[in-house]
Amino acid sequence: MTRAPTSVQCCIAGGGPAGMMLGLLLARAGLTALVLEKHADFLRDFRGDTIHPSTLEVMHELGLLDGLLKLPHQEVRELAAQVGEVIVPVADFTHLPTRCRFLVFMPQWDFLDFLAAAAARYPGFSLRMQTEVTGLLEESGRVVGVQVMTEAGPVTVRADLVVAADGRHSLLRAQAGLHAEELGAPMDVLWFRLTRGRQDQGRTMGRFDAGQIFVMIDRGEYWQCGYVIPKGAYDRIREGGLPAFRERVA
Ligand SMILES: Cc1cc2nc3c(=O)[nH]c(=O)nc-3n(C[C@H](O)[C@H](O)[C@H](O)COP(=O)(O)OP(=O)(O)OC[C@H]3O[C@@H](n4cnc5c(N)ncnc54)[C@H](O)[C@@H]3O)c2cc1C
Repeated sequence: MTRAPTSVQCCIAGGGPAGMMLGLLLARAGLTALVLEKHADFLRDFRGDTIHPSTLEVMHELGLLDGLLKLPHQEVRELAAQVGEVIVPVADFTHLPTRCRFLVFMPQWDFLDFLAAAAARYPGFSLRMQTEVTGLLEESGRVVGVQVMTEAGPVTVRADLVVAADGRHSLLRAQAGLHAEELGAPMDVLWFRLTRGRQDQGRTMGRFDAGQIFVMIDRGEYWQCGYVIPKGAYDRIREGGLPAFRERVA
């Protein structure tokens, strides 16, 4: 791995969708942009696997859509919900005024690898993996860069602009004294996968029953399943054990 530049115009902490797309856009605009990602790769199960038609439109505007759609993915044109025993359509993307009138399901690591490769075509773009931002660098009350921990030890990166794209528990946001507004989602989702049998009928849909919501997404070889539980119920369900959970889902 080459050393990270120690002075850039824009330094972005976090190589998630926000950081990678911003790095790509800034480098495309002719700036030097350095993205710092603490993990060694982009592997995250089920994170941001849905790519919405509006995002696909942006990819089209950037001239990247055809390349993106060459990667393995599933396209979903309609979503349905089963309420009790009745199946009702809840979304029909085929009427959207966009180039892609469908949702795409694609592993987030494939999407991020694709963005990284597209961004790497611009000379101003750099991405450093296994590089953790540990703090802001301030001078005279102004942010002038970040402190970074690399495999080779601590480094300082100076930048005209520092962007905190380091996720929901952002270290830089906290250090900058910015406060997030908690909207307090009343539920959690337990995600898991089930093998898709050859005979399996059905399509991507949500199932609503008294006090329960279950989502099944057709991922080709498997079903990506989401079981919606009340906020705070996870420990109780875990204590109940796997057989009880299987029974509940079945
Ligand atoms: C289970 C789950 C399923 C989801 N499904 C979908 C979906 O289907 N479709 C959809 O659109 N959205 C989905 N989301 C939401 C989506 O994942 C987020 O909106 C999106 O990932 C936010 O992007 P981000 O770049 O802001 O942050 P993140 O994706 O959280 O990326 C932040 C990055 O910063 C890195 N980082 C953190 N701290 C540091 C540091 N100090 N130094 C360097 N790097 C650091 C992290 O490793 C990470 O790679 C899902 C989220 C979850 C949790």
